Amino acid sequence: MEIIVLIKQVPDTTDVKIDPKTGTLIREGVESIINPDDLHAIEAAVSLKERFGGSVTAVSMGPPQAIDAVTEAMGMGVDRGVLLSDQAFAGADTWATSYTLGKAIERLGSFDLVICGRQAIDGDTAQIGPQVADHLGIPQVTYVFEIEEVGERHLIVKRRMEDGYERIRCSLPALLTVIGELNEPRYPVVGALLDACKEGAQIEVWNAADIGVQTSDVGLSGSLTHVIKTFSPKFKRKTKMLEGDPKAVVTELLDELKKNKII
Ligand SMILES: Cc1cc2nc3c(=O)[nH]c(=O)nc-3n(C[C@H](O)[C@H](O)[C@H](O)COP(=O)(O)OP(=O)(O)OC[C@H]3O[C@@H](n4cnc5c(N)ncnc54)[C@H](O)[C@@H]3O)c2cc1C
Repeated sequence: MEIIVLIKQVPDTTDVKIDPKTGTLIREGVESIINPDDLHAIEAAVSLKERFGGSVTAVSMGPPQAIDAVTEAMGMGVDRGVLLSDQAFAGADTWATSYTLGKAIERLGSFDLVICGRQAIDGDTAQIGPQVADHLGIPQVTYVFEIEEVGERHLIVKRRMEDGYERIRCSLPALLTVIGELNEPRYPVVGALLDACKEGAQIEVWNAADIGVQTSDVGLSGSLTHVIKTFSPKFKRKTKMLEGDPKAVVTELLDELKKNKII
């Protein structure tokens, strides 16, 4: 089975701070991690390879330091790593990102399955998986939490719904976006990490020319949306904590609710 896994390097959100003047993310000194959902995508891909043979390729689009994410993926058992990194890719919205990823997948050649995380914890749109599937013209199943059956030319998977799940039969090649419930990601193996860093085994870095795209179609120039303004929402509601003897607190709560005309 030839599997491509899409991974994004994201800031570790517990450390994220917003510059109050510019409203932009302060990235300096912030640790980067593989997007949590993508660890489950890698685990799914590597487990399928172990069961059915074939190979796994990890593809990431990002700045040069995103090579660390690809290296970690190789430490988890991915066979080949590709980083899409070019100044021309900077400022991409989700449309330009998925177009670029789609073009890189086309350059990789034939595949059976593309696996992505459901959502990135920074951009948070959950648009990339569905858009990449659309660019490639292949079926997609989102929110996958179980891969039940793998056949020569089909998959049966379960996708999480708010009130249950759907069981879907899907032809291959296909794209899945996966959620954390799917599996428990393994830790990278030191030996595999060292192999990924060895001379001759370097992760491939591809630029716009390598994937045959015009610079006008990628990055900021290829983006259909543009950010006009970013701001932190102002909280209008006030919180008052009531503490003490439960009976007295209930009385005080009722008084507050009446005073504010809620009851
Ligand atoms: C108008 C606009 C302008 C933007 N400008 C910038 C900018 O200047 N600089 C900037 O850094 N970002 C910018 N972004 C954010 C950037 O477009 C998104 O981070 C990116 O498109 C991915 O979307 P997402 O984070 O919502 O991913 P989601 O759709 O939530 O991610 C789902 C899955 O897709 C895959 N995936 C997502 N992104 C990648 C990736 N890069 N490589 C490989 N796999 C991936 C992963 O498997 C991930 O789990 C901009 C966004 C918009 C809307």
